[in-house]
Amino acid sequence: MGMMDGKKGLVLGVVNDYSIAWAITEELHKQGAQLGFTHLPDKDPASPKMERRVRKLVDPLNPVMVCPCDVQKDEDLDAAFAMAAEKFGTLDFVVHSIAYAPIDDLKGPVYAVSREGFKTSMDISVYSLMAVCHRAKNLMTNGGSIITLTYLGGEKVIPGYNVMGLCKAALETSVEYLAHELGPQKIRVNALSAGPIKTLSSSAVKDIDKTFKLYEAFAPLRRNVDGPEVAKSALYLLSDLSSGVTGENLHVDSGYHVMGAPVPDAKLD
Ligand code: NAD
Repeated sequence: MGMMDGKKGLVLGVVNDYSIAWAITEELHKQGAQLGFTHLPDKDPASPKMERRVRKLVDPLNPVMVCPCDVQKDEDLDAAFAMAAEKFGTLDFVVHSIAYAPIDDLKGPVYAVSREGFKTSMDISVYSLMAVCHRAKNLMTNGGSIITLTYLGGEKVIPGYNVMGLCKAALETSVEYLAHELGPQKIRVNALSAGPIKTLSSSAVKDIDKTFKLYEAFAPLRRNVDGPEVAKSALYLLSDLSSGVTGENLHVDSGYHVMGAPVPDAKLD
C-alpha cells in the first residue's frame, strides 16, 4: 500500500529526467498517486519536441492528463485546470516546480536587470504560483497540499543567483500569504528549499559547479543532495504526514543554510 493511494494531483515543471519535478513524480508514482502533467508548449506545433520528450517520460506512468501550459498565459492555465476538473474531478495536491529568467538578466548584476527581464522572471517564477493556487483551490474541495521549489538565494545573497534570488524571496513570502489565505479551506502551501542539483535550469546559473564544491566543503553533511532526496521531502509535504504543516520553507540542502561562516581549513577542490 502506497502513502499516496487515492490521491490525485498535478505536476507542473517536468522537462526531462533531470528535472526536480521528475524526481518528485517518480516518488509520488511509487507511492500510488494518480498524476497529471503540464509542460511548456512547443513553439512550433509542427515539431512538438517538448511534448514528445515529456510524454516519453510520463506515458509509462499512465497519466490522467498531459497538457501544454505556458504559465505566462491565463488561457493556458485556464485550459489546464479545466482539463484537470474534467479528468480528475477534484485535486489533492499540486507540485509547482517552475522558474525562468532571461539569460542576460540572470547573468548580470541585479542593479542592471532590464525592466522586461525582471517582469518575465517574476511572472514565470513567482506570479505563476498565485495563478496556480487561484485555480487549484476550486478543485481542492477536501483540502489539499501545494508545494513550490525555492533556493537559499531567496534568503541570503548567493553570488551568481542574481535576479532569481529576488524571485525566490518573493516566492517564499507568497507561500506564507497563500498559506494564510487558503488555510481555512484546509489547503496547505509550503516551499521546499533544495540545495543545488544539476538540471537544465541550474546549468544557466553562473558558477554552479563552484557552488556544488562549496556545499561539499561547508554543509554540515559535507555533500550535495540529489533529486530523490528532495522528492522524499516533497512526499512528506504532499502527504498526510505533514497534515499540521503550512507556510513552511523546508530546506533539503545537507544543512548548508544553517552555516554562518566557512568551515575552518576546509578545502574547496
Ligand atoms: P528544470 O529546468 O528541470 O525545471 C524548470 C521548469 O520550468 C521546466 O519544466 C520548464 O519547462 C518550466 N518553465 C519555464 N518557463 C515556463 C513557462 N513559461 N511555463 C511553464 N513552464 C515553464 O529545472 P529544476 O532545477 O528542476 O527547476 C525546478 C524548480 O526547482 C525551479 O523553481 C528552480 O528554481 C527550483 N530549484 C532548483 C534547484 C537546482 O539546483 N536545480 C535548487 C533549488 C530550487
